Amino acid sequence: MKIGIFGGTFDPVHQGHMIVAEQVMTELDLAHVVFVPGGIPPHKEASSVRASAEDRLAMVEAAVEGNERFTVDRVEIDAGRPMHSVETVSILKESSPEDDWYFITGADEVSNLLAWKEPDRLLEQVVMVAATRPGYDLSRLDHLEAALRNFDRIFPVECTRVDISATGIRRRMLQKKSIRYLVPEGVRKIIEERSLYEGDGKRSEGGLLKEEIR
Ligand code: ATP
Repeated sequence: MKIGIFGGTFDPVHQGHMIVAEQVMTELDLAHVVFVPGGIPPHKEASSVRASAEDRLAMVEAAVEGNERFTVDRVEIDAGRPMHSVETVSILKESSPEDDWYFITGADEVSNLLAWKEPDRLLEQVVMVAATRPGYDLSRLDHLEAALRNFDRIFPVECTRVDISATGIRRRMLQKKSIRYLVPEGVRKIIEERSLYEGDGKRSEGGLLKEEIR
């Protein structure tokens, strides 16, 4: 069986993520995709994550509802400490090591793979699916070929390009603009009910980083 892992901060999860998960799953004939919302991501400042781990988890659970091939795993959230993908993947694979595992990531992040922890070991464990995102030029992965033993385990998949980002959604929330249809409806409801991303200073000043307020 082929299984996809889709990790992210998901702050919040949005339709760009859902499109990538669905299209990679169908393109590569994966049995299902496991969404793994991150605890505190090792590469992001803890303070740059806006919604709590539990709120982000609830949003991902709402987003996958109705698709029986999408599931959510709380391994990173429960760890309560930063986790690198190589570690997350090892833990998830323990449940069924005989399956073929695919790690879904935006191509922009794959181009930065040399900064990840033990990229070659990660590629031994999973096929890295580089999902294209708006404006992405695949030749930006070329530099990895000389540096990685397992470069041939990186597999680009062209997905429908939607210019949606979590940063953009948080910015719209701060500007009191509509985010309807940018996120799944269940996610919009949670954001509304729990007053997330409203810039009320609950998590940090203005709810956004300075560079996000543009
Ligand atoms: P932020 O704007 O806060 O950086 P994000 O929208 O990129 O967030 P993440 O949770 O960091 O969301 O992303 C999880 C994964 O989804 C990453 O691998 C990222 O590259 C990918 N991704 C995010 N948005 C898109 C999109 N619109 N199209 C394709 N891939 C995307």
